Amino acid sequence: MIKAMMQAFTNLFKPVHTVKYPFEEDVVLPKDYRGLIEYSEDDCIFCDKCEKACPPKSIVFYQHPDGSKEYKYNAWLCIYCGECVRACPKPGEALWQSEKKPLSATKEQDVNNEWFVWQRAAAESRENHAAMKKAAKEKKRQEKES
Ligand code: SF4
Ligand code: SF4
Repeated sequence: MIKAMMQAFTNLFKPVHTVKYPFEEDVVLPKDYRGLIEYSEDDCIFCDKCEKACPPKSIVFYQHPDGSKEYKYNAWLCIYCGECVRACPKPGEALWQSEKKPLSATKEQDVNNEWFVWQRAAAESRENHAAMKKAAKEKKRQEKES
């Protein structure tokens, strides 16, 4: 007990090795540090593999009626596991893990609700697109039969 107290007292006068992140940004990143996910729409082939591979669902594509897709990433939900990059057929071009540090949300940012709205809209956009495709297929079939 006395030994432990002596050790604790001695530690008070030793140099501090921790950083008060995010108030102090001066952090030395380790090799292979996994930070924020970055994306290039120009290189993406919209295969959705990243979305399917993401455990917390922090990548979600919105399906536009013209067939194009819109990417959105939730940096606050991301657990920096890198599964999306591993699943991507164009890692390093369409999707990559940068050395950018995680973001901390401010009180003013409504990150969760904004994301829920996006998720619902994206799910709806896919249902609408699937229904549109089904109707077009059915119409084609009927035209073929008549
Ligand atoms: S790093 Fe992991 S949690 Fe973050 S977007 Fe990729 S798969 Fe999802
Ligand atoms: S896995 Fe890669 S290529 Fe496929 S949608 Fe995601 S970013 Fe685009």
